[in-house]
Amino acid sequence: MKRIGVLTSGGDAPGMNAALRAVVRTAVYMGVEVYGIYEGYRGLLDGNIKELNVASVADIIQRGGTALRSARCAEFHTSEGIQKGIDMLKVFKIEGLVVLGGDGTYRGAMELAKRGVPVVGIPCTIDNDMGYTEFTVGFFTAVETVIEAIGKIRDTSSSHGRGNIIEVMGRRCGDIALYAGLSGGAENIIIPEEPFNVNEMIERTIRGRNRGKIHNIVLLTEGVANAYEVAETLEERTGVDFRVTILGHIQRGGSPSAFDRVIASQMGYHAVDYLVKHPEAQTALGIQGGQIVYTGMLEAVSRKKEISEDIYTIAQVLSI
Ligand code: ATP
Repeated sequence: MKRIGVLTSGGDAPGMNAALRAVVRTAVYMGVEVYGIYEGYRGLLDGNIKELNVASVADIIQRGGTALRSARCAEFHTSEGIQKGIDMLKVFKIEGLVVLGGDGTYRGAMELAKRGVPVVGIPCTIDNDMGYTEFTVGFFTAVETVIEAIGKIRDTSSSHGRGNIIEVMGRRCGDIALYAGLSGGAENIIIPEEPFNVNEMIERTIRGRNRGKIHNIVLLTEGVANAYEVAETLEERTGVDFRVTILGHIQRGGSPSAFDRVIASQMGYHAVDYLVKHPEAQTALGIQGGQIVYTGMLEAVSRKKEISEDIYTIAQVLSI
């Protein structure tokens, strides 16, 4: 393989730049030309493609977001769109692709693979919602952001004796709430994988107050329940004043954590190494028990994500 392409697609995640840097530098090291495809599949269809070199990825390892930019591209959901993408790869003589993104990005890559383009995926999303890998690039940075927010909110909550509901991202996956809840000492962690039980929240709040607690942090995964309605119910049933903070996109930004930089660099390196050695690749990289693992892309998008029961149990026990 003489020339490969790299793109970032779907929601951006801190660490995408670290992975991009590793892809580009590994390719250059191996004597493979590497082309950056800007704005995901949209840029592929538009031919928004440029050769990258060692200097193109200097000074980005510490930056959040993605230097290649990202976009959603509806046209790529059609077979005409995919064919246009294949044609564009031929125009630029790109023989294989490394894609950085989530589930949707992988599904797009699979369409290319079905038509003969070798592809390797690097899981980049703050949600940690991909079942085949223990962790995705960007997840722990988002968790750090939430922990920082919990600390600040707890300061003001304690001063006024209030409770606080902090809504975090995650869509159908509760990992941000779970890991931030455990490490930030939240009293209640509400995730989509477990039944929503408002009575238990009330009991915990009252129990906390009775032993002199002056704050109460609830971490709520977006989409499970309406944060304002939950606050109202808790106020009515416990007499404690509850405020709501919706963290939103702040969780997507920021300089990647050391862990995210490390796994992004590992995966970037191994993606290129695997791609050049496997011209039939349809493979997603992941991490399990500290080791890089290789999974077929179809299996990677099909595997259901399960929460860590161990972490959930410990979080419940410690917030007694
Ligand atoms: P995140 O998890 O952060 O949302 P993602 O990669 O899942 O990231 P999506 O918006 O779902 O983000 O997908 C990114 C892009 O991938 C889409 O805009 C589209 O261009 C392409 N894509 C998604 N699903 C398919 C599909 N089934 N076929 C072809 N292309 C797809």
